[in-house]
Amino acid sequence: MSSVEQIDRAPEVVVDCLIIGAGAAGLVAALSAIEGGESVLVLERDGVPQGSTALSAGLIPAAGTRWQAALGVEDSPTQFAIDIMRKAHGEPSLDLIVLVTRTIGPTLEWLADRHQLPFSLVDNFTYPGHSRYRMHGLPSRAGRELIDRLRAAAETAGIDILCEAHATTLLVDRANRITGVRFTRPDGSSDDIGCKRLILACSGYGGNPALVARHIPQMASATYFGHVGNQGDALNWGEQLDGATRHLGGHQGHGSVAHPAGILISWATITEGGFQVNAKGERFSNEASGYSEQAANVLAQPDGIAWTIFDARIADIAAQFEDFRNAVAHGAVLEAQDIAGLAAGMRVPADALIATFAEVATAKSEKRTDRFGRSFAGVPQLVTPYRAVRVTGALFHTQGGLVIDDHARVMRRDGSVIDNLFAAGGAACGVSGADASGYLSGNGLLTAVALGRVAGLAKC
Ligand SMILES: Cc1cc2nc3c(=O)[nH]c(=O)nc-3n(C[C@H](O)[C@H](O)[C@H](O)COP(=O)(O)OP(=O)(O)OC[C@H]3O[C@@H](n4cnc5c(N)ncnc54)[C@H](O)[C@@H]3O)c2cc1C
Repeated sequence: MSSVEQIDRAPEVVVDCLIIGAGAAGLVAALSAIEGGESVLVLERDGVPQGSTALSAGLIPAAGTRWQAALGVEDSPTQFAIDIMRKAHGEPSLDLIVLVTRTIGPTLEWLADRHQLPFSLVDNFTYPGHSRYRMHGLPSRAGRELIDRLRAAAETAGIDILCEAHATTLLVDRANRITGVRFTRPDGSSDDIGCKRLILACSGYGGNPALVARHIPQMASATYFGHVGNQGDALNWGEQLDGATRHLGGHQGHGSVAHPAGILISWATITEGGFQVNAKGERFSNEASGYSEQAANVLAQPDGIAWTIFDARIADIAAQFEDFRNAVAHGAVLEAQDIAGLAAGMRVPADALIATFAEVATAKSEKRTDRFGRSFAGVPQLVTPYRAVRVTGALFHTQGGLVIDDHARVMRRDGSVIDNLFAAGGAACGVSGADASGYLSGNGLLTAVALGRVAGLAKC
């Protein structure tokens, strides 16, 4: 579907800045570009903008923000960059990390001041790998609110979002410079629209099983939990234009998706002192390494199933998330007054589960690292009543993609730039390195929002 076509005459109607994709990256880019005085048009294949952004928890990490300062959290883009680099084993581009960590804080403050997005700081638990409280979210802590507020801001700013417009073909001149885009409508008709510059904000390839099998074979059979419309078009176009790509195996997995309900269970259930067992009632990994790499660990268990176990205190923390409240309403969260009762509900051997609880309790009380390498330092013991959720591992989104420069311009394999083609969000290579273990919580919306801002403000 995604092709590149050379044409001799540019389309008649030309906008300054054309954007493909109305997720967080595309809408932040649009709001930024119109502020710079450009005429802007966004093409979106769906009837209503949603993307993976709507499916997310909407949490965006940023350092040095006024929300952190108000709560006395000392942080800086440099500290944030160190955390990202450490989680990704030194693999990502340092320049890119510096760019996004410096951009994201001012961008959230601009979204709050200029477009009335009421962010606040999540200050009651830290995500694995973040050395500070730095997750910012909207009141519902749900991505649907983020996309709805961005769309409303775009409408207020007078930005045209053409929905049910599926971009299929990039139009280029003889020098392979972008001159426009062809898109199709649901009735099969198509149109060409010209542009002075194009921003690819149509995300990654998680919704394309063939590309997942090629680049992330270990997740080929995993449930894809992201937006199905993300078919890898940016990657396909970029490759046809000789664009450089990087870290195509990079992705965000998640090891705690309620099954069969299909609802995300907040990782606060783990970081606050919970743990996971398999169908034998036994732990199998260091859950605290991160939820992303835990997806493959869970999928390696019998039937690809595990149980996330926690208690009422942790459930109260997780309840700030709409997803968790939905899981409770859905009946996905078991409750029991003792371990034997919990084991019965889970249908796992009670003696094994009792032994696992005891092992975790000992590790906590002795403040030592357990046999999987997990430290339970600083987290309280679980107390009755207990909770458990049956979960599986899932692929959330891809993190590899097109290599960009510090203006978010797409780079060719020879190191030159395609000077009027930009990429942001899941379309661009992110800051998570070559596999799931490099994903630091929030890297997805970090690069969507920060690179959307950079691409939107850029000129060519
Ligand atoms: C369940 C879940 C929870 C998550 N939670 C978080 C979180 O809390 N924090 C975080 O940082 N990240 C999170 N993520 C990741 C985050 O959602 C993504 O990284 C981010 O939304 C990507 O934004 P985007 O704008 O690049 O893509 P998207 O939001 O997916 O938007 C891309 C848009 O492009 C459109 N499109 C695609 N192809 C075309 C085409 N050819 N023509 C026209 N339109 C097209 C799509 O329809 C879509 O609307 C989560 C992901 C999932 C799945």
